Amino acid sequence: MKTEVEDNFTTEIASFDDLDLSPVMRRALKKAGFEEPTPIQSQLIPLALEGYDVIGQARTGTGKTAAFAIPILEQLDPLEECRDPQAIIIVPTRELADQVGRETVMLAHGLPTEVAVLAGGKDIKRQLRALENGVQIVVGTPGRLHDHLQRRSLRTENVWCVVLDEADRMLDIGFRPQIERILRRCSKDRQTLLLSATLPPSVRKLAESYMDRPEVIDCCDKDI
Ligand code: ADP
Ligand code: MG
Repeated sequence: MKTEVEDNFTTEIASFDDLDLSPVMRRALKKAGFEEPTPIQSQLIPLALEGYDVIGQARTGTGKTAAFAIPILEQLDPLEECRDPQAIIIVPTRELADQVGRETVMLAHGLPTEVAVLAGGKDIKRQLRALENGVQIVVGTPGRLHDHLQRRSLRTENVWCVVLDEADRMLDIGFRPQIERILRRCSKDRQTLLLSATLPPSVRKLAESYMDRPEVIDCCDKDI
């Protein structure tokens, strides 16, 4: 498969071996049964590892979760060095938060990674305890994440990556105000990754306001 990176730099990426991943990540991928990267993974992972903001457009079921989870896991500081969240993954529903949380933990196999799922409708005391104990990655719904921000239980000082997963769905539901408040609380130097099945004007406007010269990947004509 071909990947267009920037204007005239074309690379062929057909295997996870070409992505320069750590041995522990390669073992986790093997254990998960992931043999080859999907098109969105082979394009998004190298750009995310280079620190670019990226807009990834791809259909459901094309492996978007691993596309953003792998570069985040590869760049995490260990918990001993930083007990506050380093990455916030924002998703539209609590089911999706559980699913993305599970997949991230699966890909973190072999790494002592702490992932907290902060979804609405779930016991907030448990979430508060998890945050107090120290986490590296937070996966949550906009409303509950915003709630934790207001309680000051979610600290954003050390967040270097924010993922907006299913951005089109989140905006359709009406989560724009909460998403904007979360983004505004994170450092301007952060990396922002936006995943969406469609890129309507509302999503483009969000990207224009909160992303820094994003690379755009369109995998909509490709299946796994
Ligand atoms: P999306 O977010 O694009 O809808 P998911 O990230 O939920 O898709 O992935 C869909 C399914 O494909 C999940 O079960 C996931 O574990 C699996 N998957 C993702 N990447 C790969 C891969 N490279 N090889 C095999 N299975 C994969
Ligand atoms: Mg998804």
